This record gives sequence, structure tokens and C-alpha cells, in this order.
Amino acid sequence: MLHGVYLDRFVAELPGDHSGNGQPRAVPGVCYSLVQPTPVRAARLLAWNASLAQQLGFDAPAPDDPSLQVLVGNALAPGMRPYAARYGGHQFGNWAGQLGDGRAITLGELCLADGRVRELQLKGAGQTPYSRFADGRAVLRSSLREYLCSEAMHALGVPTTRALSLLATGEGVVRDMFYDGRPESEPGAIVCRVAPSFVRFGNFEIHAAEQEIDVLRRLLEWVIRHHFPQFAPGTERIADSRRYADWFREVCERTAIMVAHWMRVGFVHGVMNTDNMSILGLTIDYGPYGWLEGYEPGWTPNTTDASGRRYCYGNQPQIALWNLARLASALLPLVEDKAALQDGLEHYRATFAAQHQLMFAAKLGLRSLDRPEDEVLLADLLGLLQASETDMTLFFRGLGNLEGREALTLALYSPDALDAEQAARWDAWLARYAQRCEAQGESNEVRRERMNAHNPLYVPRNYLAQQAIDAATQGDVGPLQTLLQVLERPYSEQTGCDAYAAKRPEWARHKAGCSALSCSS
Ligand code: AMP
Ligand code: MG
Repeated sequence: MLHGVYLDRFVAELPGDHSGNGQPRAVPGVCYSLVQPTPVRAARLLAWNASLAQQLGFDAPAPDDPSLQVLVGNALAPGMRPYAARYGGHQFGNWAGQLGDGRAITLGELCLADGRVRELQLKGAGQTPYSRFADGRAVLRSSLREYLCSEAMHALGVPTTRALSLLATGEGVVRDMFYDGRPESEPGAIVCRVAPSFVRFGNFEIHAAEQEIDVLRRLLEWVIRHHFPQFAPGTERIADSRRYADWFREVCERTAIMVAHWMRVGFVHGVMNTDNMSILGLTIDYGPYGWLEGYEPGWTPNTTDASGRRYCYGNQPQIALWNLARLASALLPLVEDKAALQDGLEHYRATFAAQHQLMFAAKLGLRSLDRPEDEVLLADLLGLLQASETDMTLFFRGLGNLEGREALTLALYSPDALDAEQAARWDAWLARYAQRCEAQGESNEVRRERMNAHNPLYVPRNYLAQQAIDAATQGDVGPLQTLLQVLERPYSEQTGCDAYAAKRPEWARHKAGCSALSCSS
């Protein structure tokens, strides 16, 4: 029954709305509202994360296990005090006011045997005061995508929230998937996701925007006390303002590392609004995300963003900085030394640059990109990858394991379309690269190992996720299970799994869900 020690630190230590009024509305002056999940008709387990469950101290549920009722919001385990958090956010560059957990409900903060704490949150568990005009539910396709991708990211070594379970609710959820006035009923589902905390930049922004400065300070002290104890007031007397600026710098650093990883693996978040930015530097809120197939910095999977491309792959580092600047603005009332916050943003820039360089050096099998010509070597490669529609994942993986021209041919979407000039440019680049490797004075074996540890072979390609969704919708979770298994070891070649390490097939190029996704979820 998901038994454990549940803490209620967020609820007990911060101001909240205990009215029980579930009506969507503005809820000024609070960090959360106490809510109850809305029961669903039936709970059917589609995916269970055994290794995460083990860390949390949970056994795999039997088919009639009461735990399943907790995982869809039909029951609570002893000690759970569910709530929806209040936050705001900048959406697509504009302040959007109060948003909040409109369909996510935190069940409690589970205390693990080693003292660490994990928040358990149901996504799609029903309406809350923050649901605005929406139904509080989630459809199977988006829930499956969140489960699949967050676990793939974890295995890839990218900081992320996790997923414990995916359950069908036995209820239909009406969505106008293409926003074309043709709403349809789709199967509903609920993910139980897990993280040390789901606090976002937007949790701070709402208090600053509403001039709730005392609550802002209390939230920040809470976050520091429980998640960044290194910045808590100690015996040494450090001014609060200084501690806050140091904390902000740490958030900048974590965000930089997270985004550098995104760039390394070819992940595009798709909706980098400030309400989707974790204060812990975790990838959070998997919506219309996507994975680069052909390397294309301008690519975004999000159809809502197709015209502006604000959140395309290549913009992500800049957007994260912009979002951090919004967080800095929210902290202004608490930090006298404005320059210290500016230093944090500078630290983001420097950390991102250093991490990005390190990661791309490793992708190329180089110890570092420290020679004057290295920057050009990388820039030229990225230009070539883009110009000739080259699969990012397959190219980097192949470069470590195959002869250069062979790696290229396997990764090109139209190998026959390579004209003589492009071929010559590629040959020149491959020759320069071979020379650079030679100059490093390492064996190919050592280089290959470095590359294979940083260049995944298997990523949750958009069309693979869609195939798992199509099967699950028909009642077959086999393809999802197999895909999850393969993605658990993304850096190790697995026998019989070639299909998961293949270029996107042509039929998937423009198919909905495989190349473009709406925000409808
Ligand atoms: P997102 O763009 O998915 O991060 O969502 C932005 C805001 O809309 C958040 O406050 C969500 O909780 C809320 N939201 C999204 N979908 C729903 C839904 N189906 N029901 C209620 N709130 C929702
Ligand atoms: Mg969100």
C-alpha cells in the first residue's frame, strides 16, 4: 500500500490554503492548496519501475494490490497529505500570472531509509484550484511519453525527475489533439512521478509578482533548509542576502549542467516556460519534447512553437539563461546586491560553456577541446551535420566505432544526395579529425571507450515512443516494456536491438506524434 514514512514539510512549514475549496481561482498569499485526488473508475497497471521502487522501499504491486488505488488517487497511504503547489510563470516570453499544479497532486514527501526524501506526485489526478479552465486529467499518450522519457534520461545520465508507475484510469479524456476543432475521447492515464522536490522557478515568481515578499522569503528559506543545506544559516554569520545570491549561483550552475546534457544527447524540451524549470536543475514536465534525428539546431517538436521556434534545440542554452534572469528578478526584493545575481548569470554562461565543451570533446573522443583549432573543428562538424541531414545519435556513435566515411553513410538521411562538394568537405573534415585524434597520442581503444560512454546508441526516438503509444492504446504494453528495457542501457550495444538504433523511417518524417507534437496532453 505504498507504506512508508511520509513527511509533510511543504504543507506544515509554509503558508497554505486549507479551505478545501477546489474551485479554480486565484489563491493569494499561499504556497499550496490542500486537495484530494479525484477518484477514477479503474486502476490498471501499465508500467512499474522496479528499480526505483526498490530505492523507495516499495514491493511490486500484485494485480489487486491496494497500492494501485493510491497510484491513481483512489486511496491514500497513511501519512499522506496531498496538495497542489501554487506557482506562476513566464510562458513563451510573457508573464502568465498564477498557474500552479492544475492536474499534478503531491501525495507526500517519502522519507527513505537513508534519510533522503522523495516527493511522490500524481500527474492527471483531477482538478485543483489551479486547473484554470482545464479538466485536471492526462491522456495515455502524454503520460506514457513522460514515463518513458524521464526514465531514458535518467539512464543517459541527464538530471531528471523519475517515474514510478503508469496506470490507465479506465476513463476517457476528451482532447482536441490537433487544435482543429475535432475533440475526441482518449484513454486517460496517471503517472506517479518522483523527485526530491518539484519546486520550480515559477513558485518564486508568483510571490514576487504579487508582492508577497514575506512568503517569498519563507519559501526560499524552506528550499534552502531542505534542499540546499549548504546555504542555511550556520555558525558563521553570513548575511541572508549573500546566502541567497550564493544559492542562486548554485541554481545557475545546476541548470547549466542540465542544459549541456540536453545538447549532448540531442534532447529538445519543447516548453521551457519558467514554470517548467526545476529549482534543483532537473529536467521536469515532459510535454511536447522531442529528440533530434537529423542534426538541426532550429528544430522544435512543439507545434505551438513552430512559427517562433523559441524553444528549438539550438536556443535552449539562451532560453535557460533568460529563465534564470526571471528567477533573479523574483529574488530582487530579497537581495540587496544586484551585482551578485548578475554574477550568478555570468556563472551560468561560464559553466555552460565549460560543460558543453567538455561533453562535446568527449563525444569526439578528445580529452579536451583546448587547442586553438578545436573550436573550428567542432563548429565545422556541426555545420556539416546540419547541411547534410545527418542523424546526430548515429553519427557520433559511429564515429567512435567505424571508419569515418562508413559512420557518415550510416547516419545520412539521403546518402545519395551528397554532392561532390559536400563529399569533399566531409572528407576534409574527417581527415582533420583523424589527425587531431592522432595528435592526442592515445590508442583508438581508449578513445572509443570515451566516446561510447558519452554517445548513446539508443535514445527514445519520437517514432519509437509513438509505436509504444499505439500498441498501449490497443491494450498491448509489450512494445513499451521492450523499449524501456533497451533504454535502460543506452550506451551498451544490445543483441537483437538494431531496430532501436536505426534512423527514423521515412513514414515517420511528418506523422503526428513522430515529428511534431501539440501541447495537448
Ligand atoms: P504545461 O504547459 O503543461 O506545463 O502546463 C501549464 C499549466 O497548465 C500548469 O499550471 C498545468 O498544471 C496546467 N495544465 C495543463 N494541462 C492541464 C489539465 N489538463 N488540467 C488542468 N491543468 C492543466
Ligand atoms: Mg508544466
